[in-house]
Amino acid sequence: MFIMDSMNSPDESARELLRLIPQVNELADQVMSGAGAGLPRRVVMDATRRVVDGVRASILQGGGASTAPAELDVESLAESVVAAARKTLEPGLRRVINATGVVLHTNLGRAPVWREALDAAVEASSGYCNLEFRLEEGVRGSRQEHLEPLLCSLTGAEAALVVNNNAAAVLLVLAALARGREVVVSRGQLVEIGDSFRLPDIMAQSGAVMVEVGTTNRTRLSDYSNAVGPDTALLMKIHQSNFRIVGYSEDVPLQELVELGRQHFVPVVEDLGSGSLVGLEPLGLAGEHTAAQSVAQGADLVTFSGDKLLGGPQAGIIVGGREYVDEVRGHPLARAVRIDKMTAAALEVTLRAYLDPDQAWSSIPGLRMLSEDPGAVRSRANRLKRLLEREGLQLECAVVPEMSRAGGGSLPTAEIPTYCLSVSHASLSNAALEEKLRKGEPPVLARIKDERILFDLRTVSDQEVSLLAGAIASIA
Ligand SMILES: *Cc1c(COP(=O)(O)O)cnc(C)c1O
Repeated sequence: MFIMDSMNSPDESARELLRLIPQVNELADQVMSGAGAGLPRRVVMDATRRVVDGVRASILQGGGASTAPAELDVESLAESVVAAARKTLEPGLRRVINATGVVLHTNLGRAPVWREALDAAVEASSGYCNLEFRLEEGVRGSRQEHLEPLLCSLTGAEAALVVNNNAAAVLLVLAALARGREVVVSRGQLVEIGDSFRLPDIMAQSGAVMVEVGTTNRTRLSDYSNAVGPDTALLMKIHQSNFRIVGYSEDVPLQELVELGRQHFVPVVEDLGSGSLVGLEPLGLAGEHTAAQSVAQGADLVTFSGDKLLGGPQAGIIVGGREYVDEVRGHPLARAVRIDKMTAAALEVTLRAYLDPDQAWSSIPGLRMLSEDPGAVRSRANRLKRLLEREGLQLECAVVPEMSRAGGGSLPTAEIPTYCLSVSHASLSNAALEEKLRKGEPPVLARIKDERILFDLRTVSDQEVSLLAGAIASIA
């Protein structure tokens, strides 16, 4: 039996067109000997295949009417191939201008790394370095030795271990200290950090058995103590990071959990998430405690990120009691999630800045942006306005007071006073303007609010203002 299928049996005119499509090899050769000379052959071949497949699919889908024979002309196909090949060769990961006012924007790379920290990474990794070698003694060392003393000094902990990121830190701690045993945790703290980091999943992957206590909004000390038994390996407290429960709520302070843990000889682990190394009073935020405070309050292990409030490269930091850190260090997973030399170098320089908190606030980009005086932000907004007005564009601009956010799952309720340039275009819709900015060079990300586009200058540096003006002018 023969079944007619419109996809498999193109009509006569479509069949005619399909015959006109050149062979992939022929077309690629043509490109390589013409406009594509000098492009890598592999790139041209892939691009040719994609162009030819695309043309074939469009003919099969739309029939003969969809494609004009002229489009199948070798010259114009070759042009498409060259364009596609060049696109492959463009850098994928690019610098963007973050005018959203979200300082630790996870989609935009979280904390920008301090230039001096980057220089150290370049210096250490463009040649050889003493990553695991003690120069004084001429013997093998550990990459952790460059970071551990700094972290101990900054947090008051006995020992420290740095891994790839905080998710890895949590996984490693649970695997090393609680595999096959129970971890008691409040239902109000079973967070999802976004991008599929869910605490219960991490717990399951580590092999620990999660024992949930309390309710979403209220957990009491008795909830924990009722759950502690012979199989309890850890009591765990997790920072709520990106959300807050307000109203009728109750939570057990770290000290009380520590007391309970001491009574039962069960260690207490706190996942601080963002975890700051300096008090956030300069931001007018009293409630957040630092990693040092967690250690002082008796947490046996504390984990936090390197690239959230700390403002360094991506890393996961574990600090705490020597015996626990050593147990974690000795677990086979530790090797799988170890940090690389570039990160170690950049983190070391970032941590050293914290030895003088004033230096940390003034040098580390994330802290500097979070704490910058709104007046200084307003002068940048005014400068951007003047630059745009000079271009004589069809834009209506005004500098307006607004609120920035910390982002990165840090300080979700904190509103930081800022100034934005609020813009609307005479003929372009906001959606169209936003898209052009995003696809422009350099790409610009802004906020849309109440029919206006807002450029928050808190996250735009002095040097970026003229670049931003140029990017806006080129599309408006
Ligand atoms: C952000 C966060 C993590 C994950 O940290 P990464 O450094 O992104 O891996 C884990 N726990 C909490 C509470 C967090 O806020």
